[in-house]
Amino acid sequence: MNNETRTGLIKLQEVLYKKSLLEKEISDAPKTLMTNIEILNKLKKAYVEKNKYLERKAEKINKIRIRLTDLENQRIEAERQMGEVENQREYDILDKKIKEFALKEQELRVRFNKERQELDELQADMSSKESMILSQEQEIESEKDKLESYVESKQVELDSLKGKEQEILPGVGDDIIYKFDRIVRKKEGVAIVPIKNGVCTGCNIMLTPQFVNEVREEASISFCPYCSRILYCEDNEIEQEQAEVKFDDADLGGLSDLNPDVDF
Ligand SMILES: [Zn+2]
Repeated sequence: MNNETRTGLIKLQEVLYKKSLLEKEISDAPKTLMTNIEILNKLKKAYVEKNKYLERKAEKINKIRIRLTDLENQRIEAERQMGEVENQREYDILDKKIKEFALKEQELRVRFNKERQELDELQADMSSKESMILSQEQEIESEKDKLESYVESKQVELDSLKGKEQEILPGVGDDIIYKFDRIVRKKEGVAIVPIKNGVCTGCNIMLTPQFVNEVREEASISFCPYCSRILYCEDNEIEQEQAEVKFDDADLGGLSDLNPDVDF
């Protein structure tokens, strides 16, 4: 890998990473809206269920009311008959009936009031649910508008990055670019790293000297066998020089003021 390719890949890595972050922002953007739509649907479902219950309750109350009127009429009729009784026995029977009607009426009235109160509470709850649904719908509408302009602005940024991406020509094949893009996304924007002291600086694993030599020879693109990142030797000349210095160290007898520019 020559210098031009290396510089190109480093530039490309930055653009690709920004692109991947933007793409994620765009795909994550509707999440809040989706959650709110889900909440709305749940609210509506609960509302429909509760409304059915409310209708049943209203029906029940109506039946009690009819039964109550019926009892009341029976009692009034019995009371009217009281004026026509001819003996004690008839009086006792009617009196017993009237008392029974009155008792049933009383029981039913208690039930009626209880049911009526529950219905009132339910209706109050329903109207609070209605306003919750309404405000949820309004929020969703405003979120939709915001989301649209947000995504539009992110799309503009993304398009400009795509333009930049096209301008960078590292001189490698599309298959390498494709793989490189995958690594950028997987390794949080760090897909090309130097080897330092025989170690991949991406994953900090020691590479074999043979492999390091292959990378140094720049013949092709080399990927770290451990973390898949593209590797390069930071400065081949200096590394080679240092290797030579180490080799020559004994002969030179301890050079303390080592100048890397000196041609050995
Ligand atoms: Zn590595």
